[in-house]
Amino acid sequence: MKKIVMEKIKNIALIAHDYRKQDLLEWVIQNKEPLKKHRLYGTGTTSKILREEVGLEITAFLSGPLGGDQQIGARIVEGDIDFMVFFWDPLCAQPHDPDVKALLRISVLYDIPIAMNQSTADFLFSSEYIDKTYERKILDYSSRVETIEVKKK
Ligand code: PGA
Repeated sequence: MKKIVMEKIKNIALIAHDYRKQDLLEWVIQNKEPLKKHRLYGTGTTSKILREEVGLEITAFLSGPLGGDQQIGARIVEGDIDFMVFFWDPLCAQPHDPDVKALLRISVLYDIPIAMNQSTADFLFSSEYIDKTYERKILDYSSRVETIEVKKK
C-alpha cells in the first residue's frame, strides 16, 4: 500500500457552495488562528470572501462552476493539497455536480481528511494530528489491475 506523509503544516482547501458560505465564514472566523499555521487554498468566490472578511492569506483557484473543484482535485492527485473543508449544499443541485462528485471521489481515493459540516471540521481541527505529521494510505489500484484477466486472441 502506497503511503504519503502529510507534514505538520497542512495544505488545506476551503470550499463552500453559495448557501453554505456564511457557515464556512463563521467557522473560519472561529478557527482563524489555527488556520493561519497552514497553507490555505480555495475556490474563487470562497477565497475572495475569506480574504476580504477574515484577512486570510489564501491561494485562489477558479470558481467552482468554472472548474475550481477540478483544479483542487488535480492538486490532490499531485500531492499539493492534503486536507479539505468542503461545505457542499445538501439542499440544492449545482451546475457542476459532476465535478463535486469527482472531487469527493478523488479525496477518498487519496485518503484526504474532509470536513463537510461544522461538527466534522471542529473534530478534525481538534485532532492531535492537525499539528503533527501523518501517513495517509492510498488505495492500492495496481493490485486490482493485476487480477484483471484479458482474453488473448
Ligand atoms: P466558489 O466555488 O467558491 O467559486 O463559489 C465553490 C463551488 O461551487 O464549488
